[in-house]
Amino acid sequence: MMSKTDSTTQSEEKYKDFVNMTIHELKTPVTVLKAYLQMMLLQLDKDQLSGYAKTVEKMDVQLNKMLHLISDLQDGISINADNIHCLMNNFSITDALKSCIDNVRTTNPDVTVESDIRHADLTINADRDRIEQVINNFIGNALKYSGREKYLKIQSIVKDDRIKISVIDRGAGIPAEKQQMVFEQFYRVESPLTHKQPGLGLGLFICAEIIRKHNGEIGVNSKEGEGSEFWFSLPLRLPRT
Ligand code: ADP
Repeated sequence: MMSKTDSTTQSEEKYKDFVNMTIHELKTPVTVLKAYLQMMLLQLDKDQLSGYAKTVEKMDVQLNKMLHLISDLQDGISINADNIHCLMNNFSITDALKSCIDNVRTTNPDVTVESDIRHADLTINADRDRIEQVINNFIGNALKYSGREKYLKIQSIVKDDRIKISVIDRGAGIPAEKQQMVFEQFYRVESPLTHKQPGLGLGLFICAEIIRKHNGEIGVNSKEGEGSEFWFSLPLRLPRT
């Protein structure tokens, strides 16, 4: 006889299959559309139609947002600490930070981006792509939830055998009683600014799972109306077993 737990697990699996199929169906046309837009941009560039090219670029930005949401949804539906895959390697965290900083400076020339890396070149053992994903998620949120205050600082400090990386903004901030909830799946702070921005409340949940997988810690310090500091820290030495 099938127990209640068995049938719950089965319906959860069915639901996940359904969502995964839907994500796949959504992703395919958006990716194809993106390829057509790239071709169109090349042609408009050739024909020197820069007015149209600007509009197509704006369409491309929106498509990127859509692809970002789809990939959050894909990760968020299937992620838990056991099935998130991290490929640990030695790499320079200083280089990774610099590449994230260069990237945000290039793509957001109107934003003041301060870099505060307080250590020499440092090698860590972690999954570089996943760690960059966390830093970029913090950066993306700092930009999304900052309104008109276009400032952010990326800080990295080494203390007590741990590296602590923070992204600090002067944006909307988060009320004290909601700060821990932002790491929960599908949680979004109720506010007009949040409503205006696209999002599923999955990015920070995914970040928390990635950092947990690295035996690290993640957190936020924030004051409503003044800004936020999103941070994570990682042990520099592997825990003894
Ligand atoms: P999303 O941005 O897709 O909604 P996240 O999981 O990345 O999802 O963030 C969860 C919520 O936390 C956001 O909806 C927003 O309300 C709040 N939040 C995240 N980062 C910031 C920030 N830097 N400043 C203010 N609020 C933030």
